[in-house]
Formats: sequence, C-alpha cells, structure tokens
Amino acid sequence: MRRIVLTGFRGAGKTEIGRILASRLNIPFIDTDDLIETRTGRSIPDIFHDEGEERFRSIERQVIASLPPADVIVSTGGGVVCDPKNMEYLRRDSTVVLLFADIDTIEKRLMKKPRPPLTGLTLHEEIAAMMDRRRKNYYASSDFCMDTSETSPAVAAEKILALLQNGVPTENQRSTALAFFKTGRLPLIPLKKLEEILTGPQRNPRTRIMGVAGFPCAHSRSPKLFNALFDFYHLDCHYTWFEDPELDEIMKVARMIDVKGLSVTIPFKHEVIQYLDEIDEHAAQEIGAVNTVVFACGTATGYNTDWLGVRKPLVPMKGAKAVLLGAGGVAAGAAYALIDLGMDVTILNRTPENAKKLAERFGCRWGSWEEFDRIRPDLVVNATPLGMQPDTRNPLRVDQLHKDMTVFDLVYTPPVTPLIEAARAQGCRTITGIEMFIEQAREQFYLFFGIEVADEKVRELVV
Ligand code: NAP
Repeated sequence: MRRIVLTGFRGAGKTEIGRILASRLNIPFIDTDDLIETRTGRSIPDIFHDEGEERFRSIERQVIASLPPADVIVSTGGGVVCDPKNMEYLRRDSTVVLLFADIDTIEKRLMKKPRPPLTGLTLHEEIAAMMDRRRKNYYASSDFCMDTSETSPAVAAEKILALLQNGVPTENQRSTALAFFKTGRLPLIPLKKLEEILTGPQRNPRTRIMGVAGFPCAHSRSPKLFNALFDFYHLDCHYTWFEDPELDEIMKVARMIDVKGLSVTIPFKHEVIQYLDEIDEHAAQEIGAVNTVVFACGTATGYNTDWLGVRKPLVPMKGAKAVLLGAGGVAAGAAYALIDLGMDVTILNRTPENAKKLAERFGCRWGSWEEFDRIRPDLVVNATPLGMQPDTRNPLRVDQLHKDMTVFDLVYTPPVTPLIEAARAQGCRTITGIEMFIEQAREQFYLFFGIEVADEKVRELVV
C-alpha cells in the first residue's frame, strides 16, 4: 500500500478524517503537529511565540523527513505544502489527498478551538489571506481533492476510500478517452502504455494522467522529461501527448479522465484561456498566454512559465538593447521577461501589424524585419519557429551577426539551430532554447507538484 497523506488548511478535517481512515484500513495514524509537540515537549503556539515561525518550520521539516515510508496515514500541518523539501518527502511513494472547505465553514470550525492568531487580522480575514497565499501550493500538493464543507468526517473518509479504490473517471469515460488517443498520432508504445493505465487489467486507479496539449506536439520533450522525473521522485503519474487540431476535444478528454495538469503549446496558448477558471495574475494575465494548466478542487488554473525560462539566462544582461524576433505566444512571454529586466526592446515580425499589437501592450518599439540592421542590438531573441526541425532556415543573415551580440534562440529542436551555429561562427555569445526549456519545465514541475527540481537534474534528463 502507498502512504496516504492528507493536506489542507487548518479546520479542513485532516485529523478526524485521518483517524477514521487509519481505523478503516487498520494502519497507524500520524499527525505531524502532534509529533512535533511530542518530540520537542512543547506546544506549537509556544514554539511560534518563543522561537518564531522559521524555527518551527525547520523542526517541522525534520519531522516530515523522518516519517515512515508506507502503510500509514499522515495528517499534516496547514503550512507544510509551502516548503518544496516537505513536498518531496511527502509525495514520495504516497497518495496525497487535499481536504478543503469554504472560508465560512473553516471559520466556524476554528472558533470551536481558538488559537492565538498568526497575524493582526480578524479570523475570517486571516483565513482568506492565508488560503489565497497558499492556494498554488495546496493545488500542487493534491493527487485527489475532497470538499469537506458539508460532509461529516465519516462520510468524507468513505468517499476518500472509494476514490482511492476506483479513481475518478468511470469505465465509460476511460474507454472514450482511449478512443481519442487511438485516433491521434500517438506512436504504438505510448499508446499501449496509456491503454494499460486507462483500461488494462492491472489498472492502478491512483495513477494520474498529465500531458502536453498542442498541434503538432509530437516534437515536445516534455513527456520524456516528466516521466523520468516521476520515476525519480516516485510519483504515481504518467505524462503523454494530447495532440489534436481542436483544443475543445483536448479539454473535454482532459476533464473526462481527470488530468492533474497540462503543458500547453502551439497553437493553443491563448485559446486555452477561455477554458480556465483562474489565471495567475502577474504572468498569464499580462502576457495573455498560458503554457501550464493545473487542475485541482474542480478548478482549472492557468500560469505562464515561458517568461521565467527566457528571463533566467538573461539576468546578467539587465538594461541591454534587445531585438525580439516574432510576435506570437512565446514572444509575448519573452517581451514580458525582457521588459522585466529593464531592457530597451524592439519587436520585429514578419507581419508588422502583429508586432505593433504586442509592442503597444508592453510599451516598447516595433517594426518589420528589414529594420534589424538599423538597431544594432546587444541581444537578439528568436521567438519564431524558423530553424525548428525540419526547417533549416536562419532568421538572420550571417553578416547581421556581430561578435559583441548575445544570441538567444528559443527554438530547441535541434539543440544547436542554424542561427546558433552561425552566431557561434561569428564569435557571438549564444544561449540555446534548451536553457529556456529547462527553466520553464522546472517551474511547471513546481506548479504541478510543489517540488523544486535542481537545474542539473533537468539538464541530465533532457540533454
Ligand atoms: P506562434 O504563436 O505560432 O508564433 C510564431 C511567430 O513566428 C509569429 O510572430 C509569426 O509571425 C512568426 N513566424 C512564423 N513563421 C515564420 C516564418 N516562416 N518567417 C518569419 N516569421 C515567422 O508560435 P509560438 O508559440 O510563439 O512559438 C515560437 C517558437 O518558440 C516555437 O516554434 C518553438 O520552437 C519555440 N518554443 C521554445 C520553447 C522552449 O522551451 N525553448 C517553448 C515553447 C516554444 P506572423 O505574426 O507573421 O505569423
């Protein structure tokens, strides 16, 4: 049996439901808050009061790391999910069930067992603010979600047992989803694997499916990377390709089989927004493109991690004069990153009208391709598909590249594109699309699972 871990806000019902589950399954129950108090011989409010939250979190991390690996029900403290190391320990060989309830219900429950507030806010305000702050982490922590607002602990426990035994999608839904994958271009081996997971005799109902949504997306390295990370962190998930010309079809199937998350690629990064319940306010809303969708608690939340993938390798170039080639979905994220780094940005595009629209959104310059020579930038970022296999075209002529330029090609198949090859030959500093891929994937993994993967690990699995 895999370990069952309960996460959620204070008052969501973790302890009571955990005890019932443990007794129903005849396995031990551990409450990490109780364990902290037993090991330190002090109450949690005392630790907070005398030594502060940082010290408490450090003790909590040690306790989480020492938990037995299997055959146990673990109820966790409300803030456990915010620490990526905790999530790495808790998720290993475990199924994590997120318990949630509406604010009024949580408030009523907490009023029965008052505890010194952590902030100067009223209890209602404190719950709302902390839930908001931790929402992303709670979503990331969940393999399954259970709303306990209007359910007794006993009924919630029975529902969780049924979920763990059967999974969410019905037999009919799983067969319909399989038919979708069979009509697509999925190669034989990944298709067989999906068939096993969805309808095979050894089906594990706890296995969560995820994937990349695009058309085409067969070139994506995400399935190889994510499946290798699932093995590395012992996660019960499988990542595949959702390739279809109609996003509507993809989203229908994704919901039907209760996917945990989707990476979104060409041409759906903008279109996907209409299918979402929430969008990350600072990136996805301003950029207008979503490349990551997390499904949890009946909510689909969209984020953009592309811009972080462009930003990270360019941090040393703050304030540079930059030309961005292209004005599509990835270019929007790239423009956001360059402006965030205080760069003087000009967007050049095959269709200048599209460059104008993007530039007006971000308050930068724009123009047609021909204007490149006049600008003499310190940095060129290619956000067009030119050079992406099997295309061997170079977006710039060799004589347009100078040795004092940095050239960042966002295309990553092949790893060394014609533009990167030419730039290296001219003595330019170059950054390949793999750098962006690594960082955006690391951020995606964090949004999906709450775990921070080291750069080197992603590099080892991708390159
Ligand atoms: P997109 O939304 O389709 O935008 C493509 C942009 O390139 C548009 O501005 C388009 O100009 C321009 N373009 C297309 N074909 C062109 C051509 N033959 N000549 C000149 N310009 C052309 O695509 P996207 O989603 O932004 O993706 C762009 C590229 O980013 C992808 O091809 C992929 O290689 C790369 N990418 C890299 C990563 C990574 O992790 N490294 C992640 C995602 C994507 P118009 O406005 O005239 O149509």
